[in-house]
Amino acid sequence: MAFNVRTRRILIIFLISGWLISLCYYFLRTHLPKQPFQASQLYRDNRLLMGTIWEVVSPSKQASAIVFAEALRIEQLLSKYIPLSEISQLNRLGKSKVSSDTFYIIKKSQEIYRLSQGAFDITVAPLVDLWGFSDQNFRIPSDENIRATLKLVGSDKIILHQNNNVVEFKIPGMRIDLGGIAKGYALDCAVNKLKENNINNCLINAGGQIYALGDKFKTPWKIAIQGTGKSEFAGSYTLKNKSASTSGNYEQFFFKNGLRYCHIIDPRTGYPAQTQIASVTVIADYGIIADALSTAIFVLGKKDGKELAKQFPETEIKIYP
Ligand code: FAD
Ligand code: MG
Repeated sequence: MAFNVRTRRILIIFLISGWLISLCYYFLRTHLPKQPFQASQLYRDNRLLMGTIWEVVSPSKQASAIVFAEALRIEQLLSKYIPLSEISQLNRLGKSKVSSDTFYIIKKSQEIYRLSQGAFDITVAPLVDLWGFSDQNFRIPSDENIRATLKLVGSDKIILHQNNNVVEFKIPGMRIDLGGIAKGYALDCAVNKLKENNINNCLINAGGQIYALGDKFKTPWKIAIQGTGKSEFAGSYTLKNKSASTSGNYEQFFFKNGLRYCHIIDPRTGYPAQTQIASVTVIADYGIIADALSTAIFVLGKKDGKELAKQFPETEIKIYP
């Protein structure tokens, strides 16, 4: 059969087009993910841990299980509410050999105690109990009682035996409370575990302590900070590979004779911190730093708090009056 030149050209174009379409089809089938639209899916999960709600959001289905397992591991070591935790044992015995996690967080707490001139102090535990913040049985102690309890306070009275991970209190009756730093540390541990499992995008909110790992489909995670009233928001931030921690006087407090007493204690006076700020948010590279600094700055107030923050150049602070 003979074709004229025009028909032959059309046939060749058809053949080449068919060949190109087959090639494209083969390429797409073998190189693109099987279900491309699932890439925009986020998984959400929450769990009650450390007396607060932990919420995890991630494109990875496995992220929340990894975060919760790590937070639970840290809670079992550091919670003063768990009788067999390393912290409870140390508080009972006054001297104890602890794991490297527990040793590390106590050492870090002591460093921040020194840098904050004593405003951040994990040995506030007897004062937290005296004011009734551990069992929600709030009361105003007598000045005499406060003065006597203050003798048990001061992180310079913790001896750290570096060679064998033994922690020792200099004064019998001393106790520690990691409520102002342990959630931040648990966030850092959880993030390390996620990275070990090749999960690089995840947002964790542990009752106001946040870590934003990576991003959300190429846009940074956006977080809102709760205001002093339950329904309002103090501000919002976009975060990538950063932690944000907020400490304030509006969640755990009681009123007596028109005065508000909150759960953050000034270890230098023995009284709940009375600064003119409602809350402080700290953004830092590590959860442990953000958590401890927000507590410390709340105690120190605006002027001294800003001075303390200068010693951590990578951090950003926002104080809400
Ligand atoms: P932050 O400002 O971060 O910390 C304030 C807390 O730090 C205070 O509540 C006090 O504990 C301590 N603190 C007070 N003053 C100072 C100071 N000057 N320096 C250093 N620390 C200070 N709560 C429960 O009700 N039930 C539980 O089972 C429970 N388990 C927990 C387990 C763990 C491991 C941790 C860390 C906390 C647990 N909590 C529990 C406590 C609860 O979640 C607290 O409300 C929380 O730790 C306070 O954190 P925050 O972010 O509100 O305030
Ligand atoms: Mg804190």
